[in-house]
Amino acid sequence: MQQDSLWQAVLGEIELSVSRGNFITWFKNSRLLKQSGDTIVVGVSNIFIKQQLEGKYNDLILETLRKHGVPAKQITCKISSLATPAKPVKDEAPDAPGGQSTGNDSGQQTLTTNRSTRAINSNSLAHSYRQGLNERYTFDNFVVGDGNELAFAACQAIAGQPGIKYNPLFLYGGVGIGKTHLLQAVGNTIAGKDPNAKVLYISTEQFVQEFVDALRLRKTADFAGYYRTADVLIVDDVQFIAGKDKMQEEFFHTFNALHQANKQIIISSDKPPGEIPTLEDRLRSRFAGGMSIDMQTPDYETRCAIVQTKAQDHNVVLEPAVVEYLATNIQTNIRELEGALNQLLAFCEMRGLEPSLSIASSLLGVNKTRPKHLSAKQIIERTAKHFQIPIEDIVGPKRDKDIVVPRQVAMYMLRSELHLSFPKIARELGRKDHTTAIHSVDKIEKESRLDPNLRMAISQIKEHLYV
Ligand code: ADP
Ligand code: MG
Repeated sequence: MQQDSLWQAVLGEIELSVSRGNFITWFKNSRLLKQSGDTIVVGVSNIFIKQQLEGKYNDLILETLRKHGVPAKQITCKISSLATPAKPVKDEAPDAPGGQSTGNDSGQQTLTTNRSTRAINSNSLAHSYRQGLNERYTFDNFVVGDGNELAFAACQAIAGQPGIKYNPLFLYGGVGIGKTHLLQAVGNTIAGKDPNAKVLYISTEQFVQEFVDALRLRKTADFAGYYRTADVLIVDDVQFIAGKDKMQEEFFHTFNALHQANKQIIISSDKPPGEIPTLEDRLRSRFAGGMSIDMQTPDYETRCAIVQTKAQDHNVVLEPAVVEYLATNIQTNIRELEGALNQLLAFCEMRGLEPSLSIASSLLGVNKTRPKHLSAKQIIERTAKHFQIPIEDIVGPKRDKDIVVPRQVAMYMLRSELHLSFPKIARELGRKDHTTAIHSVDKIEKESRLDPNLRMAISQIKEHLYV
């Protein structure tokens, strides 16, 4: 349980730093299997994911774990069936869907085979018709309030009667305000009610990637066949289609085929159709031809309700002051709000603490006032000044204790305030080896929790930097 929520917190943060497509492909279905010594064992569903997590994403995972108080040094991935998404049994059709879809099955089958090199577990056609859906997103766990209620109502109407009203539905708005959540909730609801419905959710990045693959493998007919036989096609973040002419052309035809057959199309974007640059006019007018809804950042009360709901999902009841603190300080992006909450809960859980206002503000308080122009040099100068040592010493070779500690504090500050990489931190302080920076940051992080004087020094330096 503890491992689960730790991993959820880690994933929550990683989700913020990689693209949605990458997150879904590489991280979404992973889970933490074991911590043994310095090694973290992560369960993943196939060899491709193993290679990516152990290779390209190794540092990112380790670093994020460290932020959550787990000083792991190595990631090992195990291919484990537990890592595959748990599909509700009722959704799993026993065989290929029969009836009206038989005529198209061959095309789909070929593409399903292609897909299986990406996702080895797509072992039944019915399964692949749920492609891209994540059961985590439902209408029930979406908090409705000012800013999202119209979008919510339209999505519910569509889930009740796909293809009849609002077609296409075009949801647009800023980052992290619940577009994907609602799109997914529509897909999950329709798929839950009708096991044979072909509900396809795809991020535009992935859509483009598949199209490029199909072009390369000369399988565009399969690609077209697969998407044109959907009952519900959900395309997320369509702004990424901008400037990709061939893809736009292909999508235009897919759109028309589905629309003419009264199949439901749902699209999201960060801007209204008229403002997506280099979008072909004919697509623009198709997108605008149904219902367009502008989603706004949820208001304060709704944000409070979201924090409470998410905390309840972790079986935690938060004091009102903590809820209000989060909802006040993170206003525009619900993903960040959720990330902050996860960080707080994981921090407290690892240490057996009750979440409180003071923990929340010391964990999350700094970022909000960070001026954009703050530089590494200013931080180092301020730290040296605080400890009354010359700058040449702090960046120089001396190893006396009264120089080493300020240097470590400076490294810690470069990390916490500017989020610099460890090699960069090392360079800023005239060190060659970035492991020194890792150890210093780690040490100060730990010691500042125990040592009130050190905490005071850090907060005084920060005060000077920010005031
Ligand atoms: P977008 O697609 O607009 O960038 P997401 O749908 O991915 O945003 O939302 C980001 C995170 O915030 C998700 O984890 C989502 O579940 C959560 N979220 C956003 N709005 C709400 C809401 N009204 N109720 C509950 N969770 C929400
Ligand atoms: Mg999204």
